Amino acid sequence: MSKLKLKHRLRAMFFPSESRAYKERAHLKKQTRAGELFQKVMAGHCDRCGAQSGFYEGPSGGALRSLFCRNDDCRANYNATDLGNGTGWAELVGRAEAATYDRARHGAFSPAK
Ligand SMILES: [Zn+2]
Repeated sequence: MSKLKLKHRLRAMFFPSESRAYKERAHLKKQTRAGELFQKVMAGHCDRCGAQSGFYEGPSGGALRSLFCRNDDCRANYNATDLGNGTGWAELVGRAEAATYDRARHGAFSPAK
């Protein structure tokens, strides 16, 4: 083993969170989680409260959509990106503000049909 390779090996051993493989694994894990969450959300299932009642369409920008849980005790706010072919990413980013939630409930952000 070369000195450089040994150095990298040792570094990865003592600082696992700095190694490229670790970072790639963490990144992949995060993407997988986001992909699974997207599937759940698209099926109308809120990961936060467990309700299966679907979501209100919140404000969107570019490829990003905001979705608010229809359980108004929960109001979980997800950002979802549709990658096409039924795939995408979703992330729970907090809770919708009451005023924004109310507007979403009345369809203020629904995409034009
Ligand atoms: Zn919810």
